[in-house]
Amino acid sequence: MAKIWVFAEVTPEGKADTTALEILTKARSLGGELEAVALGPGATQAAKELGEYGATTVHASDDDVYSDYVAQPAAQALYQLCREHSPELILFAQQYDSRDIAGRLSAKTGSTLMTNVMDIPDTNTAKTAIFGGTTIVDVALEGEPKLVMIRPKSFAPEASGGEASVVPVEVSISDELKKAKRVERHEEAASGPKLDEAPVVVSGGRGLQEPGNFELLEQLAGAIGNAAVGATRAVVDSGWVPYALQIGQTGITVKPSVYIAFGISGATQHLVGMKGAKKIVAINKDEDAPIFQIADLGVVGDALKVLPALIEEVKKRKG
Ligand SMILES: Cc1cc2nc3c(=O)[nH]c(=O)nc-3n(C[C@H](O)[C@H](O)[C@H](O)COP(=O)(O)OP(=O)(O)OC[C@H]3O[C@@H](n4cnc5c(N)ncnc54)[C@H](O)[C@@H]3O)c2cc1C
Repeated sequence: MAKIWVFAEVTPEGKADTTALEILTKARSLGGELEAVALGPGATQAAKELGEYGATTVHASDDDVYSDYVAQPAAQALYQLCREHSPELILFAQQYDSRDIAGRLSAKTGSTLMTNVMDIPDTNTAKTAIFGGTTIVDVALEGEPKLVMIRPKSFAPEASGGEASVVPVEVSISDELKKAKRVERHEEAASGPKLDEAPVVVSGGRGLQEPGNFELLEQLAGAIGNAAVGATRAVVDSGWVPYALQIGQTGITVKPSVYIAFGISGATQHLVGMKGAKKIVAINKDEDAPIFQIADLGVVGDALKVLPALIEEVKKRKG
């Protein structure tokens, strides 16, 4: 039976990252022996949750070395574990730490790392988008082990109620692998919900004309409540807002109940990060803007006129 591993990022408080739960949920359908690897403070504690989502075994180490030093120790531990247990497939979430680790592991094992995956129908195949998200293709996976990186939010996490046994990871990490030290952690101060978890996302593009107008989006999000502000790459690249707000192929993926796009043209690279929203509302002054092709409700008009009117209306209705 195929041995499938999920690399799980964990918090020092012992919580598994949501991406690990998403991937485990999908991996249950692949019909193999499903295990997880969790490295760093909180790993052993997180094993319970990983078990609830389908891992039967969690290879865990709470050693600080995995959080104090970037990627190299974790890649080495995974490499050694691969040699001992020969997993057929390892699934990673496409996000900072996992990305660094998967790349280094690929260099050590010599197997190809398949990135930007949106689905994995079986252990030999991955689905990914090409041509800026316009075409979905099946890719045949190769390598020992096969290494796959999956976009967050590709699957909805669902617990299965299982229990995992914990196998301690014992790998000695040489000083050679302690080159990149994490000196500080900075959590971006944010008042509202996280962008990728918010039920409502109000998003702005170049059509907002200037950075100061993003303040109107903040006001709208505040008036709606439980809403977050997002942006296109065009405005991130122009330095209007931080990268953390970027939605799309090279940003994050959101799947809110409602996505409201102000002055966004609807380039495929942006759509790939938000087209899973349940309802899409677009405001654009160009009636031929591509965003209208996927919008449930389109308003042809000036975003800078619609926004203040909408803020006022929402405030009025909320009383
Ligand atoms: C490899 C690659 C990766 C990329 N990754 C991403 C990504 O992750 N996310 C992303 O967003 N983009 C990404 N892009 C960029 C993408 O191709 C587009 O350039 C970008 O999404 C456009 O942003 P925009 O809609 O803000 O700007 P524009 O395309 O310039 O559109 C501005 C829109 O605003 C409208 N407008 C102007 N004035 C007003 C007004 N007053 N009121 C209402 N509407 C108005 C215009 O009609 C226009 O439709 C990527 C590109 C490449 C090549």
